[in-house]
Amino acid sequence: MNVLFIGAPGSGKGTQSRELIEKFGFLQLSTGDLLRGAIKNKTELGLKAQGFMDAGKLVPDELMLGLVSDYLTTNKGKSIIFDGYPRTVVQAQSLGQLLESQGSKIDKVFYFKINPQILIDRLTGRRTCANCGEIYHIRTKPSSKGDKCEKCGGDLVHRKDDHADVISERLKQFEDNTGPTIEFYSKAGNMVNVDGDQAPEKVFNEIKKTLAL
Ligand SMILES: [Zn+2]
Repeated sequence: MNVLFIGAPGSGKGTQSRELIEKFGFLQLSTGDLLRGAIKNKTELGLKAQGFMDAGKLVPDELMLGLVSDYLTTNKGKSIIFDGYPRTVVQAQSLGQLLESQGSKIDKVFYFKINPQILIDRLTGRRTCANCGEIYHIRTKPSSKGDKCEKCGGDLVHRKDDHADVISERLKQFEDNTGPTIEFYSKAGNMVNVDGDQAPEKVFNEIKKTLAL
């Protein structure tokens, strides 16, 4: 099963991804990780990607799609969460074709909607473990170990892009960049709106219900 999570940073999709991974064995496709892995292992695509990055250019869509294609072939039959990719309509279309060629598809798209004021509150209070990525919140989910991670003892950090002054700009950017992609999936008819203002457990129950898990 393939699911796609769309939502502004802080809309809660990271938390939901982790739940699906931990409780139901989903894999998460991260194009950033794929790129780093390919470059590190000096694969053909990795070397090409390195060339673009060295030249200060964006890695082209076709190259990224090649990495995604390899990943999907390697993990055939596994349930995958797409998050942060596809970002544009062009990427969404080519991913759709790729999946179709493998007899697969995006089964559900979850669009995490959130009230901007609630988002700002969430992000300014968010603390992230620098070591394992576990997410805390100074009011709603504080760590019992103060400024250290409960799971691994790592340092909890307030990420630069979680500061109030950059959040409004990020929201606007998200809407500008993702609006057309949301419309694309909305028209495709398999998109579900998620009320991201709810408690994470409630959201997770909705997701489980929708996916019949
Ligand atoms: Zn940790």
